[in-house]
Amino acid sequence: MESGDETRSHIQLRARAAAMAGYYSSVSYVSGQQLAGLQGSKVAVVDVRDEERAYDGHIAGSMHFSSDSFEVKLPKLIEEVKNKDTVVFHCSFSQVRGPKCARKLNEHLKNAVSEGKLEKVPSIVVLERGFNGWAASGRPVCTCQDLVCTHTA
Ligand SMILES: [Zn+2]
Repeated sequence: MESGDETRSHIQLRARAAAMAGYYSSVSYVSGQQLAGLQGSKVAVVDVRDEERAYDGHIAGSMHFSSDSFEVKLPKLIEEVKNKDTVVFHCSFSQVRGPKCARKLNEHLKNAVSEGKLEKVPSIVVLERGFNGWAASGRPVCTCQDLVCTHTA
């Protein structure tokens, strides 16, 4: 390998690492307390757990977009959230599925804006400690079976 090639591949690796760092730091978190204060008509709570929602209940007013079919349902989710100020994602612990789906939505909304299909993007955040943290701190849990829960706490 020519030394020039080696330098180039190092630069590419570094650029990729920087892009990944940006990617992973792009999600911000809210606490359960902050969410309880935020809830209202301009806030959407998106539950991306899978079968757990049916057994464990959910945050009142949240909508269910399970992570295993998330990509397919993205257009529907975008319709639901495009006029909101804030979209709060969570899964059980908000470690993997929640942040991952939050990034996907963010990416799609930003593309829609750059293509002129949307004017603005709501702020997208993740609920710290997820549904389990929410329930463990004694916050209200709804047990209806609606995909888009319309109950209030
Ligand atoms: Zn409900």
